[in-house]
Amino acid sequence: MTVHRQITSCQAHATITVTHRASRGTNRGSLLWQVYVCDRHRLLPLQLTGASSLNHKATHPITGTPPRCGTLHDHQPIHQAIESHARTWLHAPTEHPDRWVERLSNAAALAAHVGAGQAGALDQIARIAEAGPDSPVVQARVLELLARAETAAAAAARR
Ligand SMILES: [Zn+2]
Repeated sequence: MTVHRQITSCQAHATITVTHRASRGTNRGSLLWQVYVCDRHRLLPLQLTGASSLNHKATHPITGTPPRCGTLHDHQPIHQAIESHARTWLHAPTEHPDRWVERLSNAAALAAHVGAGQAGALDQIARIAEAGPDSPVVQARVLELLARAETAAAAAARR
């Protein structure tokens, strides 16, 4: 499953691309995500992983037609994808990062409580998730809607 995300509202062409691969587990070495960013947003990939410095071996100049800055091809399993949303824009407190449905419910409740811009969308996403968390179709829908909410949040924050 690949989810296309747009994590900035930046209109610049990307100048570098950063890939992130699984460092452990049965899928070790497989591509988890690839992001394209401009010079100004070159440190944004760090936020996606929580790392403190860029892995230069995973950073490459763009060859060919550059995509827009902030383009992210996300192949992560759902709990990891939601973790990356939580690192960049989604306030989703949890003591159990693997319980992604609970995490989304927390995010929706918090957004409603503080009147956040994406509160309505997050409420809808949490309900969809709760209705069938183990279904790949539901998971795909949740990630697609989260990506849409993320784009709206980035535009509102002019990130
Ligand atoms: Zn940019």
